[in-house]
Amino acid sequence: STRTQLPSTAELRDLAADRLRRCGVATVPEGTGITARTPLTGGVLYRLPAATAEQTDAAVAAAEAAFREWRTVPAPQRGALVKRFGQLLTEHQDALADLVTVEAGKIRSEALGEVREMTDVCDFAVGLSRQLYGRTMASERPGHRLAETWHPLGVTGVLSAFNFPVAVWSWNTAVALVCGDPVVWKPSELTPLTALACDALLARAIADTGAPVALHRLLLGDRETGALLADDPRVALLSATGSVRMGRAVAPRVAARFGRCLLELGGNNAAVVTPSADLDLAVRGIVFSAAGTAGQRCTSLRRLIVHEDVADRLTEKIVHAYGQLPVGNPFDADTLVGPLISPAAHAAMAKALDTARDDGGTVLTGGEPHLTDQAPDAAYVSPAVVRMPAQTEVVRTETFAPVLYVLTYRTFEEAVALHNGVPQGLSSSVFTRDQREAERFLAADGSDCGIANVNIGTSGAEIGGAFGGEKETGGGRESGSDAWRAYMRRVTTTVNYSDALPLAQGVRFL
Ligand code: NAD
Repeated sequence: STRTQLPSTAELRDLAADRLRRCGVATVPEGTGITARTPLTGGVLYRLPAATAEQTDAAVAAAEAAFREWRTVPAPQRGALVKRFGQLLTEHQDALADLVTVEAGKIRSEALGEVREMTDVCDFAVGLSRQLYGRTMASERPGHRLAETWHPLGVTGVLSAFNFPVAVWSWNTAVALVCGDPVVWKPSELTPLTALACDALLARAIADTGAPVALHRLLLGDRETGALLADDPRVALLSATGSVRMGRAVAPRVAARFGRCLLELGGNNAAVVTPSADLDLAVRGIVFSAAGTAGQRCTSLRRLIVHEDVADRLTEKIVHAYGQLPVGNPFDADTLVGPLISPAAHAAMAKALDTARDDGGTVLTGGEPHLTDQAPDAAYVSPAVVRMPAQTEVVRTETFAPVLYVLTYRTFEEAVALHNGVPQGLSSSVFTRDQREAERFLAADGSDCGIANVNIGTSGAEIGGAFGGEKETGGGRESGSDAWRAYMRRVTTTVNYSDALPLAQGVRFL
């Protein structure tokens, strides 16, 4: 459906200005280097200054000075800052969600969901601030105690992607702050406005709780600013979320100075659908994961591996469901698919569909542009489903757009081999009512991804689990479980409380 009436760029600019004001950004800085656009129309909202190399250096220096103070503040007191921040996020959730919709093009319910993730991770981090547990181990020597303590690590640099403009930063920041680490954030150059809003809200929480002002520094900039953070030895941890290409550029730079990297890179996520699956439930999970967020999640479902006995029935249901997906203004309550981030993303999608056809694939639905008369500079497009004869190179590549490739299999081993036969390893799922198949998918020789689900789609993770993936996805883990350990350094301590000095391993000396 394309009945939607789009707002004008001027209206969206007014809306953004109002929501920014509500979040504490009185005026948007003017300058050159960064262009804030809205994918709703493709129009320019603001031109902002990019951070210079001197400003980047000063931001890291200030954050490092703040670290010296913050690392000695007891962790539960650090939690009080994050608690206040979470309150402010809740109070401003609608303003922030509007900004996410304006800048990233997410439908309103997903934008609000992204902001909910921020408050969820703040809650989690506040609890964590009293649970940064080390262990005590049994010493092999009498009169000795062996234990470990976790200490703050240092300045955490955060590079974030456009498609989760606020949540990814909050996962890192809420946890880093309770762990005792200041944060220097370089958001995507495509989403500077949401970044200004987040920075203002955190600055207010910092002021309200009397924490060091430089605990958070925002640097608007492009990859050059990102590279400065990668090279800076004062940045103890660089948490980088984005494409595999970005990871390939950043990781060696951080490694060259023996810094720590936390990489959250691209995915190429698949679902296996077996003959025993509840197909109606599977369709709902598949359509949300594949077409939701217009296919622009790192966990978006891109490959469907279906048993040949149910492939036709399932694809028919999916194509039918795709026919019901309203594409259009993401502020409209009934829209389910908003715009792609840019016309370049649409061009990449069109190219992938052409390549798939050349490889013998059949586009069953999707790929058509919409609203080109109302918004010629925007990229509204119907999500596509493509039946493929084989897992060709285009299927093995992450195209950041709503394209779902359908492959068929005969044996479960074949399904797992196809599933794991891509360079990325983020998220995965199996739809089955057969417990053996479910467990085989989750076993050591099953899915090779960091996330493996049963009877739900590949996207839409909760913050309580550790988030991330293997292979080209980069191996990092963020958010819940014990992901906090990446933001701290471990000290192993042996205390001798005896009057003898026995050496480990029975070594004799003196
Ligand atoms: P991108 O790689 O273009 O940019 C991500 C960030 O890295 C931006 O801040 C960008 O300025 C910076 N950057 C890019 N190249 C750089 C370089 N050479 N040196 C230093 N900094 C650099 O990604 P994007 O288009 O914004 O986001 C989409 C990609 O991100 C997809 O591949 C998606 O799968 C991935 N992603 C992964 C996760 C995850 O948690 N695994 C989450 C969201 C997005």
